[in-house]
Amino acid sequence: MSATLVRRVGELTTNDPTLGDETAMGRLCDAAFVVEEGRVVWVGSDADAPDADTVIDAEHAAVIPGFVDSHTHLVFAGERSDEFEARMQGLHYDGGGITRTVSATRAASESDLVSGTARRVQQLHDGGVTTLEIKSGYELTTDGEVRQLQVAAHFSNDVTWLGAHVVPDEFRHDRHAYLELVTGPMLDACAHHAQWADVFCDRGAFSVDEARHVLTRAKSLGLGLRLHANQLAHGEAIALAVELDAASVDHVTYVEDQDIDLLAAASTVATLLPGAEFSTRSPYSPARRFLDAGVTVALATDCNPGSSYVTSMSFVIALAVRDMMMSPDEALWSATKGGAQALRRDDVGHLGFGARGDFVILDAPRAAHVAYRPGSNLAARVERADR
Ligand SMILES: [Zn+2]
Repeated sequence: MSATLVRRVGELTTNDPTLGDETAMGRLCDAAFVVEEGRVVWVGSDADAPDADTVIDAEHAAVIPGFVDSHTHLVFAGERSDEFEARMQGLHYDGGGITRTVSATRAASESDLVSGTARRVQQLHDGGVTTLEIKSGYELTTDGEVRQLQVAAHFSNDVTWLGAHVVPDEFRHDRHAYLELVTGPMLDACAHHAQWADVFCDRGAFSVDEARHVLTRAKSLGLGLRLHANQLAHGEAIALAVELDAASVDHVTYVEDQDIDLLAAASTVATLLPGAEFSTRSPYSPARRFLDAGVTVALATDCNPGSSYVTSMSFVIALAVRDMMMSPDEALWSATKGGAQALRRDDVGHLGFGARGDFVILDAPRAAHVAYRPGSNLAARVERADR
């Protein structure tokens, strides 16, 4: 059995409250840990570190769990920088450009989709992401959605079917027929290629009743549930997510007090996507209200070519700290353990005993530098146990 000892860690964040300072961050100074067969088997003081086959010297740098990016749309073709330029000139974002990506993606070869997705996955990984979720939703035909899920499965074990992203142009005058397709043949074909189902439930996309119909059918086929909700307008989508025990409700920019109360009492995570708000110059989600009420918060990139072409979790953390009033520790936790909870996984997002040995050695003495030095990639070494 091969064991790797990571020693001389100046500041180790484990996210395990039984370790170190016994806060949510489970933090130790002058620490070491051992990964054996891909799992963390020992955590403690550097002075007590056991021998191992391989030794990595962190040289007093900070080490954090690998980021868990729980919301991406990485399988696409084309780009929409012209829309970004128009928004920065004052045009309002309404989700309308998604069908442009649908056209470009339908026209792309599978090898082009794989190589484009691989480049974006590599960028995320180089910045410290070791677990990611990937959604379909840019082909919106039965065969096309299956193709997207198969491409996503090359890169992720958390693949999400998003057939109900928008109504494609050819069904513009018959959304009922599209919903019949989505909840019938498309879902039947996609269900065994995905772990999750998601719906874009918002103004201009799908209604709460339509989302309930899609998600209920998906749940009956064994898929876990997630929901894009209240990015563009107030609505009942958060209540729906809680009602259906969705793992995560994402965006949640426009929220009422009762939405926050519902989430605080539920196991549904609020996943905040400040890259989208930055890139659409929209109001940020009220992170403080969620946190102060005890809601579990995740942070993710929402990487997509329209509203958030962001492949840096560090940038997302910096936005959350600077513009959403999260502390650097809260943002780090939400980008690691919070993301894991949004995927209902307990093997990633932390470095407690039994966790997957996914970690990042930072080119910095403290994890707070991730938010403190925006625009720099401080991920000096990214280790993923399954490689
Ligand atoms: Zn999204």
